[in-house]
Amino acid sequence: MKKQTHTLLKNVFGYDNFRPLQEEIINRTIDGKDSFVLMPTGGGKSMCFQIPALIFDGITIVVSPLISLMKDQVQALKANGIKADFFNSSISVQEENEVITKAINGNLQLLYLSPEKLIAVSNTWLKQLNIKLVAIDEAHCVSMWGHDFRPEYTQLKMFRNSLPFVPFMALTATADKSARKDIEAQLGLHNSKLFISSFDRKNLSIEVRGQVPKKKKLQEIINFLGRRKNGSGIIYCLSRKNTEEVAGFLKKSGYSVAFYHAGMNHEEREKTQTDFINDDTKIIVATIAFGMGIDKSNVRFVIHYNLPKNLEGYYQEIGRAGRDGLPSETVLYYHMRDFVLYSQFADDGANTVMQKEKLNRMLQFAEAKSCRRKILLSYFGEHLTENCGNCDVCENPPEDFDGTILSQKALSGIARMGEKDGITMLINVLRGSNNADIHKKEYFNLKTYGIGKDISFFNWRDYVIQMANQGLIEIMYAESSALKITPVGWKVLKGEKKIRLTTPISIDDKKKIQKTAKIVTEGEIHKDLFTELKKLRYSISKEEKMPAYIIFNDKTLKLMASELPTTENEFLTISGVGMNKMEKYGEEFMNIIRKFKSVAKPRKIATTVKTFNLYKDGLHPTEIAEERNLSITTIFSHLSQLYAEGKAVNLEQYVTTETIAKVRIAFYELDRKIELKPIYEKLNEEVSYSQIRMSITLITKNE
Ligand code: ADP
Repeated sequence: MKKQTHTLLKNVFGYDNFRPLQEEIINRTIDGKDSFVLMPTGGGKSMCFQIPALIFDGITIVVSPLISLMKDQVQALKANGIKADFFNSSISVQEENEVITKAINGNLQLLYLSPEKLIAVSNTWLKQLNIKLVAIDEAHCVSMWGHDFRPEYTQLKMFRNSLPFVPFMALTATADKSARKDIEAQLGLHNSKLFISSFDRKNLSIEVRGQVPKKKKLQEIINFLGRRKNGSGIIYCLSRKNTEEVAGFLKKSGYSVAFYHAGMNHEEREKTQTDFINDDTKIIVATIAFGMGIDKSNVRFVIHYNLPKNLEGYYQEIGRAGRDGLPSETVLYYHMRDFVLYSQFADDGANTVMQKEKLNRMLQFAEAKSCRRKILLSYFGEHLTENCGNCDVCENPPEDFDGTILSQKALSGIARMGEKDGITMLINVLRGSNNADIHKKEYFNLKTYGIGKDISFFNWRDYVIQMANQGLIEIMYAESSALKITPVGWKVLKGEKKIRLTTPISIDDKKKIQKTAKIVTEGEIHKDLFTELKKLRYSISKEEKMPAYIIFNDKTLKLMASELPTTENEFLTISGVGMNKMEKYGEEFMNIIRKFKSVAKPRKIATTVKTFNLYKDGLHPTEIAEERNLSITTIFSHLSQLYAEGKAVNLEQYVTTETIAKVRIAFYELDRKIELKPIYEKLNEEVSYSQIRMSITLITKNE
């Protein structure tokens, strides 16, 4: 059996090894037992039922509420030569009949159904099928404790009871302990074994930026995107209006961007989603309504424009980045305004206490001064022993110091102001500001007025929030965010307890440090070739009308661009290439690789390609020179060479038409000899070598 599952993994899916737990789950399922699979998004849950489905002599039923995802998954399975189909409200009656016929005739290995369709047909043709396995995807939808309860799911138990000897598998990426128990009971699983794989997504970097004003936030996002021109990503916003605003702003700045929210009609949403999946739109600015049905593997970044409501949602949303396992970035922006707004929402809604508690946890995470991944994973019951090294706190660990006296100043301020004011007023008093409110309340008479002059407003804010996080003060959101001293706070104030604070790092400092600390290097990937392979993939995807990543995902293409396989055997060793894809696409991809190998001049290519990549990232030649530590003349010479090779370099922008005209005359007078010095001299040394070189390249290329 072991051999068979491995052979299927390699031959059908093109992968060499199982991920942790997959094999165990598969074997248990083949033994006919129930399982509960809890793995993060992108963890490889589908494989757990797909391999048994190929082994069983019968059909596997997959229940999923995500209709758009179903189509993708089925396409992906078909691309690997697997007999799969789906049955949901999106298909016509004729298509329905075709699927039913295939299923009844034993021509399907996997059938995906929405829960409502399953319930509707469970007593009709479904009864005729030789069902060998049932997989319930997004199983948390059955629980009222979860965050995405779907009433149709509660009827699945009847279906379970009608198939007592068929193994059932519940799969989800989110369920805490109480929800897990509930899910098992609701679905009627028998002696199921729980499989929890690590929720650690090491390839996702985590960064949090607090209290950034709106204008600056947009500018930071533009800078971020500028450095990642070809990357695909999602920006989550709190409100529909926000998504439209931010998308409009990015569009004006020249980005391929669309917005998405639940206020749009079905067709608009569908189109926006499809364009994103197919890489026709690079960036989506969306409310959290976006993403449930998205299985796009090459999302390179997820930005939260506002604080998410809870860590479950946050983790699920950032989890949409980097499903292909390649390094991907996540940035969370938060502002106390978001928190206050959500607190008010929570007050109006159901489950207030729980929602508020979850929101508090979210804020604690955002304000934390210790490894973020540790906090996040511990929330999901997983305890890391080491700091992760891939979050902003690990990269810039804050220094801590004895903050007792500093805290006493603030606490004493709060006490003297009668615990009636908020954080801004407190800081203004501590810093001895002179504004109308202070005058009105006569706070300049307080002993604490001006005792914290030496500390900036930004730093005071940070300290006060740290004090709140350490339980010294409470922010009373229901009382205009007035600060109140807790019993622990009184102890500190009376000198009965010491506390430690950490030095705040300003966002600008952070950026500086990160710029120097983080230079992402990429192995030996030939980026030009990667681009060519992507182009081919794109044209096939258009022809075959399926998302590009279903053909090969980015990781697989990158491997091709570094390993350079040119024979069938070599091609099959690439992770993600199975037999079916090899036969279907192998030749076309290998032809490009062969061509690349035959013209590649390794050393020369390395340096001009590096320049080209930075150029494509949107850097100006002077910035490229700085980044590469080369002279500007060299960079212009690279750009000329790239232009001559037919690369997409807009060389015209660096020389004026007058200069070209001057150089043209000299060039022709000197019998079109490509020698720079004589031209330089002929033009009275007034035109630089770079300008001459670029002019000649433009003249000869466009003749
Ligand atoms: P989930 O359903 O848990 O969100 P998927 O089942 O969609 O995740 O798997 C995520 C990606 O990982 C897919 O592209 C899948 O093909 C890939 N994958 C699954 N198992 C393996 C494996 N053993 N080796 C390499 N890639 C795998």
